[in-house]
Amino acid sequence: AKRVVIKIGTSSLIYPNGNINLAGIDELAFALTDLRNRGKEVILVSSGAVGVGMNKLNMGRRPASIPEQQAVAAVGQAELMSIYGQRFGTYSQQTAQVLLTRDVIEFPESRKNVVNTLNQLLKMGIIPIINENDTVAVDELDHTTKFGDNDQLSAIVLQLIDADLLIMLSDINGFYSDNPTTNKNAKLYSRVTEINDDLYSRAGGKGSQYGTGGMYSKLKAAQRVLENHSAMVLANGKSPKVIFDIVNGEEIGTFFKEE
Ligand code: ADP
Repeated sequence: AKRVVIKIGTSSLIYPNGNINLAGIDELAFALTDLRNRGKEVILVSSGAVGVGMNKLNMGRRPASIPEQQAVAAVGQAELMSIYGQRFGTYSQQTAQVLLTRDVIEFPESRKNVVNTLNQLLKMGIIPIINENDTVAVDELDHTTKFGDNDQLSAIVLQLIDADLLIMLSDINGFYSDNPTTNKNAKLYSRVTEINDDLYSRAGGKGSQYGTGGMYSKLKAAQRVLENHSAMVLANGKSPKVIFDIVNGEEIGTFFKEE
């Protein structure tokens, strides 16, 4: 894989106690910088704006209303980018903030502008860090929809720049036959070649207070990736160094690829 999109979920960035997982973010910066220097083109799609905002504003619980969450996300996004800037900075890796909405693909003009920006950043050796623009769109915040947490956005980005691989890092080892947090007998799928209704029926909701999309949303993203004839790996982001093993082709988590 030459072009790799990495999506990291809130559950990998924020500890259950609300603290920011700086060690994890540092490891992510280390891994992505190394890949970049070995000739890969790397794009990061990062959640976590609301969680980091809650941390900065000393909020114990996620606010209920969408406007409150948008406000917290606006605080958190700036803070998150500052943390990324610092951590990538220790490895002399430049980063850029790119805030998108999912509907960019529906407007040829905005689609073209996004593609041009991303390609130019990659050409300059900069790692784009993408998030949904929570001020403009609330798909990520509105958990009544099943399409949360940048999962869709990361698949759309893969499509836009025709990346080969999407590495989706979550708080679970992969996609199981049933939600493993509630069913101990659930089995890990190591390879999925197509997404069908049976698989959707096995995908449950989010795992933690800080998680958002849940497995349904990840399968939906995988479906888009497969439609693009690209591949996706869903793996545990507990230790982002797992990215090295995935890129080296080791069997980790769930590998989604057409037959
Ligand atoms: P993230 O914040 O990393 O995007 P989510 O909480 O949105 O994480 O999604 C991961 C969670 O999905 C898991 O922790 C698990 O509780 C839940 N889940 C539901 N069904 C499944 C399944 N079939 N296989 C794996 N995880 C599942």
